[in-house]
Amino acid sequence: MRKFNSHRCSFCGRSKDECLILVAGIEGHICETCVEQAQDIVNEELNASEASFEVYLPETITPRDIKKYLDDYVIGQDEAKKLIAVAVYNHYKRLKQDELDEDTWDDEVEIEKSNILLVGRTGTGKTLIAKTIAKFLSVPFAIVDATVFTEAGYVGEDVESILSRLLQACDYDVSAAEKGIVYIDELDKISRKAKGNPSITRDVSGEGVQQALLKMLEGTTVNVPPNGGRKHPEQKLVKINTQNILFICGGAFDGVERDIAARVNSKTIGFAARERGISPDEEALLQYINQKDLIAYGLIPELVGRLAVIGYLEPLDKHALVRILIEPRNAILKQYRKLFRMENIELVMADDAIDYIVEKAMEFKLGARGLRSICEAILTDAMFELPSQKGKVKTLIIDEHYAANKLGHSTVVKRLRAA
Ligand code: ADP
Repeated sequence: MRKFNSHRCSFCGRSKDECLILVAGIEGHICETCVEQAQDIVNEELNASEASFEVYLPETITPRDIKKYLDDYVIGQDEAKKLIAVAVYNHYKRLKQDELDEDTWDDEVEIEKSNILLVGRTGTGKTLIAKTIAKFLSVPFAIVDATVFTEAGYVGEDVESILSRLLQACDYDVSAAEKGIVYIDELDKISRKAKGNPSITRDVSGEGVQQALLKMLEGTTVNVPPNGGRKHPEQKLVKINTQNILFICGGAFDGVERDIAARVNSKTIGFAARERGISPDEEALLQYINQKDLIAYGLIPELVGRLAVIGYLEPLDKHALVRILIEPRNAILKQYRKLFRMENIELVMADDAIDYIVEKAMEFKLGARGLRSICEAILTDAMFELPSQKGKVKTLIIDEHYAANKLGHSTVVKRLRAA
């Protein structure tokens, strides 16, 4: 009878004499061949999950192409779109710099990241621009709201959870997440002087949050809780390098006009504004925002320094809102028309109804944000009734009278007024 030899590989059964190395474990051994095979299996598994999100960066794009793509979705905001097209194009070149021929390029020069700050009133298209860019580049994209972050020790989310969202967006593919784009909304709400602080339990100064954000924007390796929220000791953390993640921040910076006015001689502004055909009122001042104003508003200078590109989004006038309703590839009215077409009903929105919707949106001062809620309030009854009257109605014409009647009876108006 063969005597049980504990000095055998527990995986392939080879004896100690047949192996080069036999590594001892708690209960058995493993030989060098089985270690290699096991390593292959691990690599295969990991690579399979890494390929789960394909980061696609087009080979021959130009800033003009990026802007053209944005034009299909975002109405107006030409200056901001141009700025962002260049910033994203350069970011894309940064991603490629490692692959470039080392002899051809000056290796000592490292292209630094240009994170972007979009400043503009609510509902002017800041998030839309960031979202559209991410779609164009097909990179993982996450939107986060700066107001939920708190300094360690306070109730709320750790800043690192920004990266958890990015990981979730690409099915936990770390290498894809490391090339992603993050849009941080409401950056103004973490300023040192932030009014309307959302919670008394949060870091009141916002400075701790800014410091944590700064590190991330600069490029560092962060231990990320994969499921977000607060880190806790037993949680498995994933390491993410933020070096190549592009951060786009957005904010309305309400009240910053006072800082701008204090900085610039009002005469100069009056002159420049007249030159560009705008009245030198508060709204118009925002376009002159610069790094100094952001610091005066309460952002720490280091963070401002990392937001090299500042894009200004104009308030949307009546004409722009009408275009937003009908023109973009995914325009709100195109969406409703499609919904009705699926019921074999032609939806016709008369010009006076469109004007009415736009006037109401302007009244609520929510930019384009109010358009959808207003349309929804006007069309809900029709969307509720018509499917059960199969075939009876072939065309639904919405005019101002119909729109005013439906909106008048809707609770949406109260909600929009209160917003
Ligand atoms: P914010 O500036 O507050 O981030 P968003 O980008 O979230 O505004 O805009 C809210 C909605 O309004 C968008 O989903 C989009 O439908 C519409 N919208 C806003 N601005 C524009 C724009 N310039 N062009 C097209 N649609 C817009």
